[in-house]
Amino acid sequence: MRIRSIDVRPRNLKLKNPLPISLGTFHSAANVLVTAEVEAPDGRRVTGYGEGAPMAVITGETQEGVLAFARLAAPSLIGLEAADLEAVHDLLNRASPRHGSAKAAIDLALHDAVSRALSIPLAALLGGSTRPFLTDMTIGMAAPEVMAAKAEQEVLAGFSILKLKLGSGEDDDVARVVAVRGRVGGSVTLRVDANQAWTPLQALHIIERIAPLRIELVEQPVPASDIQGLVEVSRRSAVPIMADESIFTLEDAFRLASEQACHVFNIKLMKSGGLHPARKINAIAEAARIRTFVGCMLESSVSVAAAAHFVAAHRNVMGADLDAHLYLDPDPVTGGPRVERGTFQFPAGPGSGAVPL
Ligand code: MG
Repeated sequence: MRIRSIDVRPRNLKLKNPLPISLGTFHSAANVLVTAEVEAPDGRRVTGYGEGAPMAVITGETQEGVLAFARLAAPSLIGLEAADLEAVHDLLNRASPRHGSAKAAIDLALHDAVSRALSIPLAALLGGSTRPFLTDMTIGMAAPEVMAAKAEQEVLAGFSILKLKLGSGEDDDVARVVAVRGRVGGSVTLRVDANQAWTPLQALHIIERIAPLRIELVEQPVPASDIQGLVEVSRRSAVPIMADESIFTLEDAFRLASEQACHVFNIKLMKSGGLHPARKINAIAEAARIRTFVGCMLESSVSVAAAAHFVAAHRNVMGADLDAHLYLDPDPVTGGPRVERGTFQFPAGPGSGAVPL
């Protein structure tokens, strides 16, 4: 199954509503679409799709950078065996240790093309099956009553898990959680994400105040580079701590596991550089008895579909935050897994199922 062509082009997406988090407010996503053509064993040419979703404040990448890296790398991939992801990543990693979104776009397109060529779902290529699973819905950071109203609306739409964006100060953040819990009642699962906004001491104070409101986990309480702070918070917190901006690579996963710096890893394909390295991160986590979680950047259903197959295929994945495609106006994709009342369902068919319009 040789790689015959790789096409790289910009893909600009519009959000229905602005998304405010502690790092800034997002209005749109400037992404990249990679289309890979491989030659199937029976001689057919089969196409697969991948998306790169750079988010400058998190991955340090831009659309221009992803386009440049993917276009530079593409010619040297032509003629390689498409299923040999070890060779593909070896080549990409020698070109640059960074560029996770660009690598992800290529990695996803090849996984999709290979599973389509073999006529199996992507989850099967990853060693699993397309079992349905729940995703949360994210509530952007806003005034407590605004977040409570949005939360209620999402629960009515069928979501039983909500992720609250926090990070503007202790009293504000506690008031947000109090307001949402008061509005949605006790049966909804609440996760919170501070996006690095707190100091370790603030984090411990806030967690102590919100823990009685039954919080499932607290995501990235402290700055990404403050691993010692993450260790300290994880050791003393009554609520499990999930690392997000602190974990991109295999090396990060090994370090956090070795130092027992957190209870959960948030794996994102745009940070890891695609499915192949994400599977290795999940394996490190599993061996260390760390559960994983799969999130996304601002992405369409092309790459969210790949992440959904990844979640379905791996038993160590405890949760998913795969909601970004639901914020888009429109999500320019047909086919693939769909969210129905908070649950990802997979139609039968090969590959990721998603086809960009
Ligand atoms: Mg996060």
